[in-house]
Amino acid sequence: MAYIPTIGLEIHAELKTSSKMFCSCKNDPDEKKPNVNVCPICLGHPGTLPVINRDAVLKVLRLGAALDAKLADESRFDRKNYFYPDLPKGYQISQYQFPLVKKGVLEIPTGSKIRITRVHLEEDAARTVHDERGSSLIDYNRAGVPLMELVTEPDLSTAKNSREFAEELQIILKYLGISDADMEKGQMRVEANVSVSPELNVLGTKVEVKNINSFRAVEKAIDFEIKRQSELLDGGEKVKQETRGWDDVQNITRSQRSKEEAHDYRYFPEPDLPPLDLREIPEFNLGELKSGLPELPGQKRIRLKKEYGIAGSKLEIFIQDKSLSEFFEAVVSEFEELLKAEPKEKLIGLVVNYMTSDLLGLLKEKGEAIAKTEVTPENFAELMEMLYKEELSSRGAKDILKQMIDAPGGEANDPHKIAEREGFMQIMDEGALKDIVENVLAANEKAAADYKNGKEVSLQFLIGQAMREAKRRKIGANPQILSEIIKTRFNS
Ligand code: ADP
Ligand code: ZN
Ligand code: MG
Repeated sequence: MAYIPTIGLEIHAELKTSSKMFCSCKNDPDEKKPNVNVCPICLGHPGTLPVINRDAVLKVLRLGAALDAKLADESRFDRKNYFYPDLPKGYQISQYQFPLVKKGVLEIPTGSKIRITRVHLEEDAARTVHDERGSSLIDYNRAGVPLMELVTEPDLSTAKNSREFAEELQIILKYLGISDADMEKGQMRVEANVSVSPELNVLGTKVEVKNINSFRAVEKAIDFEIKRQSELLDGGEKVKQETRGWDDVQNITRSQRSKEEAHDYRYFPEPDLPPLDLREIPEFNLGELKSGLPELPGQKRIRLKKEYGIAGSKLEIFIQDKSLSEFFEAVVSEFEELLKAEPKEKLIGLVVNYMTSDLLGLLKEKGEAIAKTEVTPENFAELMEMLYKEELSSRGAKDILKQMIDAPGGEANDPHKIAEREGFMQIMDEGALKDIVENVLAANEKAAADYKNGKEVSLQFLIGQAMREAKRRKIGANPQILSEIIKTRFNS
């Protein structure tokens, strides 16, 4: 039978701070050389004292403000005790009873509002590398990196919505500059709690799924669990409360440990750190934090749709890539003059299509981010205008764009210069265009007569026919010029 699934997520993200959580070591996720960003504090030497990273606290509070949450007046760090080689102190400094943030809400794009239970701050463990000889090596560069953990209420009910939640949180973290939140790099890690129940409002036994390393895996692992648990219940069996791991190769979850084997972490207040009185610090004030927030993805979706009519998967491309939409808006601002005369939808539509297909495609081929490209919005806008006015074929525009991307910057990126140099401008031969118009008028006597009698749509039809003919004859043409020729022809 069909059961009602319930899902709650626990998501960790490494914060993008310049130093680690409790020491001044560099927080550099790209450092390839092991054990260089270490000191006695993050190596857990006895007698050393941690100091709270103010920027990490600020970042979690900013997230709290973005999630419309309640920020703590007083917060505290606690020791979570367990032994593991990647945890040099034998405990992790975390927050248990008094997290920085409580009771927020995140709205996923499909509209459901998911309640956030809490967001707290802790430190990351070291990285363990298993080498080919079967030894395990430990790189402490990551030990003590600021890590936030967000916990949701069990408000999700499908694997797809759970994935969307994680994706939306990632976008928010990136917009806020809190974390790069790259799941493939382990900067963001999702754990899914899944249960199924035959009855509404009665929760079933939950299973926690770990080792989820991509958004796709979030969806697949949850779907797998829903199915596995439903089949257990169908067979008259019970779901066992346990932690399971996602196996990305076999696409299954596997038992890791049962409730009985669960750790007792013996949390207690961290004696080496003072409790945080957040009311004492003006920049931690909720009002201040809120007014300092950038436009969030939810707001941006509404605005881009309203201002430019962007929707669907194209809109999501712009939302996910903040620099792409910033580039886009800079391009559009170049059109202020042009838009006084031209229909907005058509020009904007062209730019949106061109950016999401050709521009992104070419940048991807080159492995370059939009934020790094030498193509300026001004130059790109110029290229779009040439294309819009049909001074260029789409083939020619693409060739020019490719050269713009490869050019070193400055003058070399000017699309007009490239077009002239490479002979990409479509040559418009006035005499040939007049000849085309005569032919089209002769072949479409009724439309010509209708236009003469004031029927504007007939003009559009005639222009369309002439464009087709010009294309067939491989002659550069644009609708404005053809329109002029036809009008002059009838006025004389
Ligand atoms: P634990 O004490 O095992 O850590 P919590 O109550 O703290 O459990 O919840 C941890 C996560 O599991 C939260 O995201 C919560 O929403 C989710 N959760 C709790 N109960 C269920 C359930 N029955 N089914 C699915 N998820 C649940
Ligand atoms: Zn250190
Ligand atoms: Mg818990």
